[in-house]
Amino acid sequence: MDEAKKRIDKLVNQLNELSYEYYVLDSPSVDDAIYDGLINELKKLESNFPDLVRLDSPTMRVGGQAIKGFSKVTHKLRMLSLSDVFDENEVKVWAKRMVKLSNVSNLEFFVDIKMDGLACSLIYEDGQFIQAVTRGDGTVGEDVTSNVKTIVSVPLRLRSVKGLESYLSGRTEIRGEIVLYKSEFEKLNEQRHKDGLSTYANPRNLAAGTIRQLDPKLVAGRPLVFRAYDLLVEPSTRIKTNEQAYLTIKSLGLIVNRPSFKNGYVAKDIEKVMNAVKMWAEKRNLEEFNTDGLVIKLNDRDLYKKLGVVGKAPRAAIAYKYPAEQSTTKLRDIFISIGRTGAATPVAILSPVVLAGSTVQMATLHNAGEIRRKDIRIGDTVVVRKAGDIIPEVVEPIAKLRDGSEKTFTMPENCPECNTRLIKPKIDEAIWRCPNNLCPARVQNQILHFASKTALDIDGIGEKNIKSLIEANLISDAADLYTLKFDDIIKLERFAEISASKLIDSVSTKKHPSLSKFIYGLGIRHVGIQTANDLVSHFHSLNKLAQASEDELLKVEGIGEIVAESVVSWFSNPENISLLDKFKNVGFEAIEVKLKNQSLTNQYFVISGTLTKFDREEAADVIRSMGGVFQSSVGKDTTFLVIGDNPGKSKIEKAKKLKIKIIDEQELAKLLKY
Ligand code: NAD
Repeated sequence: MDEAKKRIDKLVNQLNELSYEYYVLDSPSVDDAIYDGLINELKKLESNFPDLVRLDSPTMRVGGQAIKGFSKVTHKLRMLSLSDVFDENEVKVWAKRMVKLSNVSNLEFFVDIKMDGLACSLIYEDGQFIQAVTRGDGTVGEDVTSNVKTIVSVPLRLRSVKGLESYLSGRTEIRGEIVLYKSEFEKLNEQRHKDGLSTYANPRNLAAGTIRQLDPKLVAGRPLVFRAYDLLVEPSTRIKTNEQAYLTIKSLGLIVNRPSFKNGYVAKDIEKVMNAVKMWAEKRNLEEFNTDGLVIKLNDRDLYKKLGVVGKAPRAAIAYKYPAEQSTTKLRDIFISIGRTGAATPVAILSPVVLAGSTVQMATLHNAGEIRRKDIRIGDTVVVRKAGDIIPEVVEPIAKLRDGSEKTFTMPENCPECNTRLIKPKIDEAIWRCPNNLCPARVQNQILHFASKTALDIDGIGEKNIKSLIEANLISDAADLYTLKFDDIIKLERFAEISASKLIDSVSTKKHPSLSKFIYGLGIRHVGIQTANDLVSHFHSLNKLAQASEDELLKVEGIGEIVAESVVSWFSNPENISLLDKFKNVGFEAIEVKLKNQSLTNQYFVISGTLTKFDREEAADVIRSMGGVFQSSVGKDTTFLVIGDNPGKSKIEKAKKLKIKIIDEQELAKLLKY
């Protein structure tokens, strides 16, 4: 309890500071995902310890306070915030709850993209624009009328449309977001940079900063856009659905987002809501303005009102936020992972956190020097990031959230796997290494690499199986896989009859892989699959490669000194020489490229799409055997781009630009004499 209170205090203070920077100064110091990560932690703590909820907690209020310089206006109807949900399952749970609470089985949902801008309310009296008010704290906002008047998408008079005449008498309030388009943001920031002024973190902050300028002339010079999302009139029963509200707003002359669906904004059931979530996942990035999710509401406004408000958000609406690539979590411990080349990498053990849609529990810390430089401590709240396919990494600690119990990390002297003394690098920010070639972690990762998809692609060789085979002394390197016997494997706890015979079968089908896959699978430092292909294109046989000097290797296109040195050193190491002998003795032989007539010498091929007549690897081997070079991407030196089924558009465009000959599979077959 004491600990929870301390943590809540820290979080509330820190979050209030961040909110002040964001809402009042329009100058956030952290990414929104980091703020969201911390506020989620606070929400969880507050729901576990409701007595500890502080009155000034950021979960209790909407947005920021009004700033000085503008007069304050009390909203006629509170401008609420929205409850966030962060995964698809939560959307489903909410939608099901809505069906239950409303007691309507065929409930309609209304879906729109969530704009990342500045909320603002426009007030029209008898059709005439009279006032613009920011959201402020939800109850009281700032009067920014003269600034908003400069926004060309805000009509100074509502359009008179047949059937909508009633909106031109009395009070009409239109709520929406003021946004700045991404392209304009970049232009403005570039100009500010050139003028030696500070740049803005994102379009939202630039829009918010602009609307709070005291000089409307400056505002007029910045291309802000108002995009509406709500319409309030008396009596409210005049507008039955949110869809009707949108269509009316549009007819009155304002911009609304385009519909989410072909048939409009309405999702007729939960499944259709989920379709919208999927559909907008990527497409939303094509919008001119920044978006951070979807807003999902009940379409029926009467029901919406009846379901009421919880805290600062309406019950009948949610904001679904797309998975962020950054968040915050607790770094619980650090362990050392030993890779196949002996690299000793510190890895963070984290409290589980969802990043880019998947739960992450470990993240790389790169090396001891980096931990020291960033002052990352065990027990810290840290920012973690995952971008694309890259392994998650710890970006930095949030030092302000420390409570004194955090511990600094020191690299162990010895390998945690085999106890050999680790080699300390000369440069601080470099990798420590375990020099023991027989270190069980190294052996295990080497075999895992050999069996991986890009290398020999052997089914049934996962981390755990390899571990148990090593522990049972059945294997100590990749060549040993080919000596495994059913009777030995079946004795191990992890294997039953079917899994044991499957393993033997899958190993035996991979006794004659292509030479490039084998070379890659050997795990020579700095030799990836493309380098392995280049080496095979040049040397054609393992023997020739093994005997090549550094000078000869340097003649291979794309091979530099570091790779050449690494290849020579690998093939001159006695342990590796005996490993290659071992492969030979078990009847393993990689398929070398048999040289045919060299009619494709100096011709460079790229294949895009699926070929029907041959497998891509097979085609690559034939090209190499005829003296040609197989490339992975189109470049100036490419001779032919071969097009199969579903080829990549960008490759074709690039080939056209570079005037490279584009051929189909039939023409390739002719060249390869197939
Ligand atoms: P919110 O702004 O995320 O969501 C509510 C708002 O969404 C509504 O008020 C409305 O203005 C807007 N909205 C946009 N499109 C809409 C649409 N189509 N229909 C209806 N409403 C729409 O919630 P909030 O509580 O006001 O603000 C929290 C946000 O501010 C979070 O994204 C948070 O990350 C960010 N923040 C960041 C920091 C930081 O330091 N980086 C600090 C404070 C807050």
